[in-house]
Order: sequence, then C-alpha cells, then structure tokens
Amino acid sequence: MSNPFRDLPSVAKLLESPALVAARQQYPQALITATARAVLANRRTQLAAGTAAALDVATLAAEIVAVLEQQSRPAIRPVINATGIVLHTNLGRSPLAESAARAAYEAARGYLNLELDLGSGQRSNRQDPIRTELQRLTGAESATAVNNCAAATVIALRAVAAGREVIVSRGQLVEIGGSFRIPDVMATSGAILREVGTTNITRLSDYERAITPNTAALMRVHASNYRIRGYTRSVPLEQLIELGRRHNLVVIDDTGSGQMIDLAPFGFPDEPLIPASVAAGADLVLFSGDKLLGGPQCGIIVGRATLIQKIEKDPLMRAFRLDKMTLAALEATLRLYRDPASACEDIPTLRMLTTPVAELRQRSEAIAQRLRAIPSLQVDVRDEVAYVGGGSLPDIAIPTVVLALHSPRWSEAELARRLRTGQPAVMARVQEGRVWLDLRCVVAGHEDELLTAVRRAVQE
Ligand SMILES: *Cc1c(COP(=O)(O)O)cnc(C)c1O
Repeated sequence: MSNPFRDLPSVAKLLESPALVAARQQYPQALITATARAVLANRRTQLAAGTAAALDVATLAAEIVAVLEQQSRPAIRPVINATGIVLHTNLGRSPLAESAARAAYEAARGYLNLELDLGSGQRSNRQDPIRTELQRLTGAESATAVNNCAAATVIALRAVAAGREVIVSRGQLVEIGGSFRIPDVMATSGAILREVGTTNITRLSDYERAITPNTAALMRVHASNYRIRGYTRSVPLEQLIELGRRHNLVVIDDTGSGQMIDLAPFGFPDEPLIPASVAAGADLVLFSGDKLLGGPQCGIIVGRATLIQKIEKDPLMRAFRLDKMTLAALEATLRLYRDPASACEDIPTLRMLTTPVAELRQRSEAIAQRLRAIPSLQVDVRDEVAYVGGGSLPDIAIPTVVLALHSPRWSEAELARRLRTGQPAVMARVQEGRVWLDLRCVVAGHEDELLTAVRRAVQE
C-alpha cells in the first residue's frame, strides 16, 4: 500500500500550477504561499484522521483559490434585508438616509470642524450642532448624544441620582435584549432602584408613598418590546411629572424608540412622541438614534439645560461621546426632520414603514414574474404580516406581501442558507416550509441584485 502522505504535492509544485500562477494577479505571493501551506496542513490532518481526500494538484490548487477568495471578502458586508423587519438589530437597525451616509463618509475621509468654531477660530463643543437641531425639533432647552440609549440611560441616571433612589413601576422593568435590563443599568449607574406597584397595576399613590428624602427621580420606561394587556393600569406621564414637581424630583422618560413625528396615521399607535414628552414637562427624555428616528446608532438625551450640563461634565461623557462620523450622520438625519413630509420620503426607515401594501404587491408581482423564469423554482405571491422589530411596536402586525419560494432541489433551510452565504448575501424568512422574501426593506435599486442572488442560490 502506498503512503498517502508521500502523494501530497509540495508547496513549490502547487505554486507552479496554472490556477495559483493566475492567482498572483490578484493576491500577494506571500499570502498565496501561506494559504497553500495551510491547505496542505489541513490535508495532512485529514489523512492522519483517515478521511479520504483528493490529493491531485488541480483539486488542491482550486481549494487554495477558494480559500483566498473567501478570505479576501470583508467579514462585514452588505446584506439584502428580505425579512420585512425594518429595524433588524442583527442587520444594523436603520439604514441611513443618503445625505446622512454622505455626511458620515465625508467626515470619515477628511478633516472637519468637529470641535472648532470657524467664525471665531475658538474651540467649540462637539455637541453644539446637534444640540441646536434637537432644540428646534423637540422644543427642549438643551440636548446631547452618546453612543446608544443604554449609555444615555446610564449617564443620565448617574448625573441625576448616583447614590440616591429612582422610582420605577414594576410593570416597566424592561429587558431590551443584548443585556439591557433596567435593574442592571440602574446598578451600573450607581442609582438605587426603588420598584413600586405590581406587574399589571401601578398607581400614582404607589409612587407617592415610595418617596423619601433620598429619592432623586421618577422614571418612566417605555415597554418597548412587550405589552401588558387586560386588567392593567399605569400612570400617565403628565401625572408623574406633576408628582415630581410637587416633590422637587427629576422626571426621566426613557422612550426607547424615539418617534419624532407622529406615525399613528400610518398604523403605529401608542409609541411615545418625543416633542410631546418634552411639552408635557419631562426633565430628561431619552431615545435611540437608530430605531424609529432612522439615524445612526446613538442615544439622545433632551431636556433641561442644567441637567444636560451636568451630564456633559460627567467623566463618562468622554467614554460615551460620539465619534465624528456618527455626529455628522446624526446632524444630517435631524436636518431632514425640518420638513416632516420629506423626512418620510428621505429617511429609509420611515419610507419602508409607510410603504403602502398596494405598492409592495405591485413590486412583488413584477419580481415574481422574473423569478418564475428560473427553472424548477415555484413562486407564490401572498399577503402576510411583518413586524417593525428593533424592540419597537411588538404587537403591531404590519400587512405586507411576500414572495414564497420553493425549490424541489433544496430544503427551505438549505435554500435560506445558500441565500445567506451567497453574493450578495440575502436574509429571508423561513416559514411554513417556504422561504419568504419581503420586499419592504429591499430598496428598488437592489431588486436586480436580489434576483441574481436567488438565481445563484437555486441553480449553482
Ligand atoms: C431600545 C431601548 C433601549 C436601548 O437602546 P439602545 O440604543 O439599543 O442602547 C433602552 N430603553 C428602551 C425603552 C428601549 O426601547
């Protein structure tokens, strides 16, 4: 019997193969050599384990080229979101508006007046441009922004209530996921959580009775990703604010999703409106930048100037502050809100959420017709529902239209995997034995790419 190890070609022999000679056009020689060594080492391990494996030069060279190709692709890459879930945290939540993406790009590639007043030549505060924009939009005295709403909550609680008590209803002790839990956030901030009421019922008197000389704040937390139904009662923000005033306490409103304009006419009720919280008199209002606002990942705090100053003086601000790209993207996003009608057009998150079903049906029918040209692929167009995602509006089923795919060649899980790992990557939903494509979050220009991706996934 021959020794299979002896049949393994040498690195030198592999490097002379036509495939690897051609690869030199694309990859540095050192990388090709290193990859050839790695593939050979892997083959030796397989041989030692007794796993059958091809040893000829052409097969090994092809394998090396495949590894080179795979490794040359960035690990973070664009994905076509065909899930219909607009705020998909695993897919980066909100895509940015064109002007916001461009602002981030320009900020990234050059210098900018990040902390410089160009008029006076003096140093300025990096928060000033977004502060001005947020004051105008929300009516708040002042505003600032940090890396996400979790950071906003920690720094706001620390500034207002470190070492003192903050009263929160038991019905609002939210876990957002990714380890954001109100009791833990509270502990991290140094504030002391004082829970009141029960899961389903909390009355004003529950808050009132819990107030002691050591109470610093009352906090409302929006139940972003769940609803309590049935025999239930919570205290309206206005009453909490009135109670806070009487006892000289700060009232913090963690609204989570950050609705800047009223989306109720589009079928999204019950989501707190930022300007309404400010107008009601909340001292600090917190929200995410990349949920319903449709901007970059950040956490925004609007409210009383004295409190915002205190927050900005906290040493944590240095750790939590936004970088130049995010600040530029946030300013550009906020500017779009100057005209609410165009905000709904230009901010992808708002546009996707407000796309009429009739339009989705039309686009789906058009794509279905083209998909049906792919041999052996069955395509149905169906009315279905989707959810907003991103821990927003958990019980609002948005009517939508899906393309339900079935290929006799692949199971639905395998077809979904092939779409996910293809080029471009496509995230679909697997449901009812089918792969569902929802066009709500697929921008019109990406439909051709989606078609190519499906064709490859089904056929190759
Ligand atoms: C989403 C959410 C957060 C966390 O926001 P991130 O920006 O993801 O850190 C905090 N509080 C509420 C109520 C939320 O809905």
